[in-house]
Amino acid sequence: MKLSLRGVAKSYSGRRGETNALCPLDMDVREGEFVSLVGPSGCGKSTLLHIVAGLEPPTAGTVDLDGERVRGPGAELGLMFQQQTLFPWLSVRENVRFPLTLARRPRPRARGKGDADGQAAQVEGLLRLVGLWDFRDSYPAELSGGMQQRAALARALVGQPEVLLMDEPFGALDAQTREAMQELLLHLIQHHRITTLFVTHDVDEALLLSDRVVVFSERPGRVLASLDVTFARAARSSELKLDEAFLHQKREILALLRGRPRTATQRDRLLHGLTNTRTEGGS
Ligand code: ADP
Repeated sequence: MKLSLRGVAKSYSGRRGETNALCPLDMDVREGEFVSLVGPSGCGKSTLLHIVAGLEPPTAGTVDLDGERVRGPGAELGLMFQQQTLFPWLSVRENVRFPLTLARRPRPRARGKGDADGQAAQVEGLLRLVGLWDFRDSYPAELSGGMQQRAALARALVGQPEVLLMDEPFGALDAQTREAMQELLLHLIQHHRITTLFVTHDVDEALLLSDRVVVFSERPGRVLASLDVTFARAARSSELKLDEAFLHQKREILALLRGRPRTATQRDRLLHGLTNTRTEGGS
C-alpha cells in the first residue's frame, strides 16, 4: 500500500479546552490512486492532510508511506494549498525550482537528473506543461490567481513526489479558472498516475477528479463512506457534470453530507463499500 493510516486521531488543546478534530481512523491509498476527502467545514480534513504531510503530529496513530513511518515533511510529499504560497521575491522559475535546492538527497526516481542541467530541464518541462514558460521570469505579483496556482502546482511536482497532497488548491479561484485547473490536473494525473490526496468541499470537483471519494462527518471527523467513482477517467471533462450516473453519485454524497443516506439499500451499500476505511460508531 502506498499510504497507510492506522488509528490516526487529533485533538487540539487551547484556551477553550480540548477540540477533538478527528476520530481515530484507518485509511489506505493505493499507488496511483486519487482520493478526495469531502466533508463539512471544520470536520478535520485539513488536519488530516497536515498530519499525512508530517507538518502536524497526530495525537494518536501512525502514517506510513511505502512502509516507512512519516515523521516530518520530506521531498516524498508534494504539497499544494489554497492560499498563495509562492515566494514573492522569487521569479516563477525560481519558485518552481526552489524545492530542488532543499532536497537533501536525490529522489530515487530523479536519479540522473540531479545535476544542474537536469534540474533546469525538469523545471522547463513543468513550466511548459502548466503553460507558464512565457512567464518564467515574472514575479508572483504580476500573475493572475490561476497562474499563481499553476506555478504552485509545478512546484509541488518538481521534486517528483511519491504522493501529492492538495488542500482546496482551487478554492479561491473563479469558476472558469477553477475548471481550467481541474482539466490541467486531470491531464497530469492521466499521464503520471501520481498518488494524490485531495481535500475539497466541492462534490463536483471530487467526482470529476477522483478514483475514490471519502466522505467525513461533522467534527470530530469520522469516515461515513468511501465511494469508488464509477465513470471512466477517459470520459472526464466538465461535461461529465451533466451525466446521469454522475448526478446519481453526487446525490448519494450530498445525502451523506446532510446526514441522510437516501434508502436503506443505499446505506447498506455505502457501508459495505468501506473496504479500506474504518468507521467509528457507524453512521
Ligand atoms: P476542515 O479542513 O475540515 O475545514 P480543519 O482540519 O481545518 O477542518 O479543522 C478541524 C477542527 O480543528 C476545527 O474545529 C478547527 O477549529 C480545529 N483546529 C484546526 N487547527 C487548529 C489549531 N492549530 N489549534 C486549535 N484548533 C485547531
